[in-house]
Amino acid sequence: MYICIFMKKHKKLKITSLCKLGKKEIEANLKDIMLLVVDPEYICKKCARVANIEKILCHPKNI
Ligand SMILES: [Zn+2]
Repeated sequence: MYICIFMKKHKKLKITSLCKLGKKEIEANLKDIMLLVVDPEYICKKCARVANIEKILCHPKNI
């Protein structure tokens, strides 16, 4: 539920996909990314990245 509150408060969330982030983008958005990967429920089958919301992964699968 925490992520929902976060998303509403930050309508201008820059991250649309964890999978597409480059090294510089990760560094610049680290605080946002940390909130998205806390208690992950999904893993990307292609990139092995995890997230607690499905839509930011390119090939999400339930953990
Ligand atoms: Zn991916």
